Formats: sequence, structure tokens, C-alpha cells
Amino acid sequence: METGANLPNGSSPLNACNSPFNGNFNRSMYNDCSRGGGLLAGEPGAIIHFPVRGVCPLGLRAAEHELWGIVMALRDSWVEKREAAAATANGNRNMSQMHLARRGFITEEMQFIGQREHLDPELIRGEVARGRCIIPANIHHRNLEPMAIGIATKCKINANIGNSSTSSNIDEELKKLHHAVHYGADTIMDLSTGGDIPTIRKAIIEASPVPVGTVPVYEAISRVRRPEDLTFELMLEVIQEQAEQGVDYMTIHAGVMREHVPFVRKRITGIVSRGGSLMAHWMEHHKKQNFLYERFDDICKVFKKHDVSFSLGDGLRPGCIADASDDAQFAELKVLGELTKKAWEHDVQVMIEGPGHIPMDKIKEQVDKEMEWCHEAPFYTLGPLVIDIAPGYDHITSAIGAAMIGWFGASMLCYVTPKEHLGLPNPEDVKQGVIAYKIAAHAADVARHRPGARDRDDALSYARFLFDWNKQFELSLDPETAKAMHDENLPDDFYKEAKFCSMCGPKFCSMNITQLAEAEGGHDQAERKQKFVELLAKVKAAGA
Ligand code: SF4
Repeated sequence: METGANLPNGSSPLNACNSPFNGNFNRSMYNDCSRGGGLLAGEPGAIIHFPVRGVCPLGLRAAEHELWGIVMALRDSWVEKREAAAATANGNRNMSQMHLARRGFITEEMQFIGQREHLDPELIRGEVARGRCIIPANIHHRNLEPMAIGIATKCKINANIGNSSTSSNIDEELKKLHHAVHYGADTIMDLSTGGDIPTIRKAIIEASPVPVGTVPVYEAISRVRRPEDLTFELMLEVIQEQAEQGVDYMTIHAGVMREHVPFVRKRITGIVSRGGSLMAHWMEHHKKQNFLYERFDDICKVFKKHDVSFSLGDGLRPGCIADASDDAQFAELKVLGELTKKAWEHDVQVMIEGPGHIPMDKIKEQVDKEMEWCHEAPFYTLGPLVIDIAPGYDHITSAIGAAMIGWFGASMLCYVTPKEHLGLPNPEDVKQGVIAYKIAAHAADVARHRPGARDRDDALSYARFLFDWNKQFELSLDPETAKAMHDENLPDDFYKEAKFCSMCGPKFCSMNITQLAEAEGGHDQAERKQKFVELLAKVKAAGA
């Protein structure tokens, strides 16, 4: 059984990242805003620190994060070693993590993820082999920080970036990428539909330490005059090019069948997935079945060569709560289950895309059906939005549904920004969406009782009760905002230890009054302080 690389040790200091985007874009800039680190043990005697992205609690702008560069250089050797082994086989190479997992190998990526998530790498291997977990890691995306999506691992979030034909450019997209990664997105999707799509994607992949997903039909459509001019050969060409470029997962709308199209006539909002609507249009125009369904095996052959994961598209997801859980949506979901098994025959990794707009009382049913019909492949859901009357605030309407669906068992939550339904998000919208979804995913992890999931919450609560304002800010998902709000009324350093804030004022601070009551009874705060110190150490060690 393979046990991973011999990992070197060493470190050097880096400049702190004080601004989300400093205009100088390269991989190392993420190092500065990493939120912690851990130890990855390779072979005996070999230890490496590894990065954990997101906003830094406890000021852990750690020197050791330059080691990230070493981790990434190592991925070159990890992949090259496997490529050499595959080349000596029968020429029909399969580079997927699932293929290796099913042959009993614990890859370096699985080891890395095991350390990062505090899970046994053998568990990760077993889950990948079973199809209940995916590691989106194209062999050409060498600067990737490996991560996993599955029920056994922490709930993840995705941030969509990408331009449209009317807005944005490469610099703006890279700025969005940085915001997304800085605030903790676990994957990003480049949904560019205009301009020089391949060049934008290349820049994003080169700059992204997190897996990059795409929807290849967008680029294919940009190469034809009308949607009906699309052909499978063109789609395969685009898929092939994107796979060679390093795209880690692709949304493929292979589950939208011609016989499903009449179902949407009963809906208020028809088909709201771009890919779903394009395929429906093509099928109705040509009076033919979906070529992505019919030629699915050909796509699998490309995917396994480069280790691209399927994100099987929900082309018929509901676009309003009135259309939730209808015949169209569930008919497609059943086909996605059939395609999952087909992909698994090729050892190609699969996750299933989900809703959409779903009222709260119908959310659990979504997860139950996906688990049953799609054989427990990871569920990757957009929201869901639980009401339809809050344009401008749909990061909130959807984060409510996202927290619930994550609690019930979804593995990754695709963020929604305040601009949803209204326009292309800008970097600030990206930040708002990511923070809303970090809240949703973390709420799901806490509710699912994942080991250690609540430690950071408890540490922050101790900081709050003990009036350690600076630690309270540092432990927050968005420290800059927390501090700025506090400082709005009480900016002086003196108030960073004050036993009140401007909300209740000094005479009515209930937590201070509690402490005074306890002091009257002869009790000091020593025990709380001790527990706080212990929790801080735990949070720091976990990079939570
Ligand atoms: S003043 Fe009120 S809001 Fe502020 S710390 Fe005290 S109890 Fe909390």
C-alpha cells in the first residue's frame, strides 16, 4: 500500500496580507492570509506544515506557510510518478483518485486531506473508492491544495466567479478569485460566458490553490452562431481542451432528457439552468436525444485520463419555490443516478448537483432522494433559496436553505451572492456570498457533531464573556468587519479590555453583572480562563 511522499521540512517568513487584494497576484499571496496550519507526517522523520485557507483566527500569519510552495512542488512529483507508472501499463491510462483508491492506494492527496481534516487517510481512500467522497484534482492543476468533498469530511463551499459578455475582465476575475479564497471558499467555478474564455480560465487555474470547476457548454456555445449548431464533437473538443488545461471538475448536463422537457410547461419559471435550457432547446430543435447522455462513455474516457470529476448538472432544478420537487426535477435526478453508475464503471469521480429554490419543509426530501437514487454520491447544492421575495438579499434566503441541506447531508454548498437574479457579482458581492456560506457550512458541521467543529465557537464565546475583544475579533469569520463595528463607537485601545460595549453600556452589561454576581459568591473566573486557554491551543493546532 502506498503511504505518501517523503516530505521535507523548513520555513521562512512572509509578509503579512493586510488587504484582500494587493494587485500583485501570485500563489504566495494566499499564504499570507492562511488561517492556520497543521502537521503532515509523511514517511518516518518527515514532517511538513500545511496551509489552511480562510481568514486567520489568532493572527496565525505563520511563517511556515511558505512551505505550501514545497507541498505544491511535491504534487509535481506525486503526479509524475503516477504518470510514469501508468505509461508502462497498457496505454489505457486511468489517473483518477478513484481508480487508485479502488486498487488500494492511499495517495499523497488522501494523506494531505487526512491530516487537514483530522481523518484517517484510509477512511478517505475507502470513501473515494466507494464513490461517497471525491477529490477534485486534475493532474495538470499542479498548484492545487488537495481537498475532499463527501459526507465524511467537513461541509465545503463553492464560489462562482467568471465574466459575462457585458461585464468584467481578467483582473476583475482574479480579484474575485482572491476574495473567494481569502474568505474561505473551498472550490471556485469559472462560469465565464464572454470574452476570451480560455485565457481567463488559464489565469484562474494558474492562480488558484483550490479546485476549479467549469461548465464546458458555455465555451462550446461561444464557438457557434446559434445553440442548435452545437455538436457533440465540438463539446468533446472543448471538454478535452479544458481537461488538458487543468480544470478539476466539470458540470455536464447529461441528465436532461428529451422526454423531460414537457414537464417544465407546468412550471412558473421554466428551466433556469443555462445548460439545461440550452440542451432542451437543442433537443427540441433537432428532435433528438441529449448527446451528452448518449455519448457519456466518451466523456468518461477523457475524464479518467486527466482525473476530471463529474459535477452532474441539475439542468432542471426549480427556479422558484412553486416549482420545487416537481416531476421534471426528480425525473432528471433519477437519470443522474444511472449516469453515476456509468461513470463509476470507468472509476471516474462524481458529485451530483442539486436545487435551486426549495421551501424549508421540502429540503430533507431532496437529500433523501439524492442519496437513494444517486447511490450516496456527494450532493453539491445551489442554496437552496427558501423564499422568493428578497432580491438583493438572496445570499441570506439561500444560506438558510444551505445550512439545512448541509445538516441533512449535502457535501458542498454553492454560494449565492446578494446580486443573484440581478447582475454579475463584483468582488464585494463575492465576499458577502462566501461569508454567508461559511456560516451555513459551519452551522451544518456543528449540527452534524463533527469532531472539534464547535471548538472555535466555544473559544469565541469564552473570549466574549472574558472581554478579550481582540481574541473575539480574531476568532471571527470576518475579523475586519467585527472589529470595525466594535470600533465605530469605542475605537480606543482602552476599550479592547472594557467590560462592556456600546450595545448595553457599562451599567447594563449582563455578562459583567454575571461576573460581579459570581464574585459576590466567592467565585473568580480562573476556571473559564483556563478552559479558554486550552481551547485556543486546540483551535490553533487544528487551524479551525
Ligand atoms: S454590553 Fe451588552 S452586548 Fe456588550 S458585551 Fe456586555 S452584554 Fe454583550
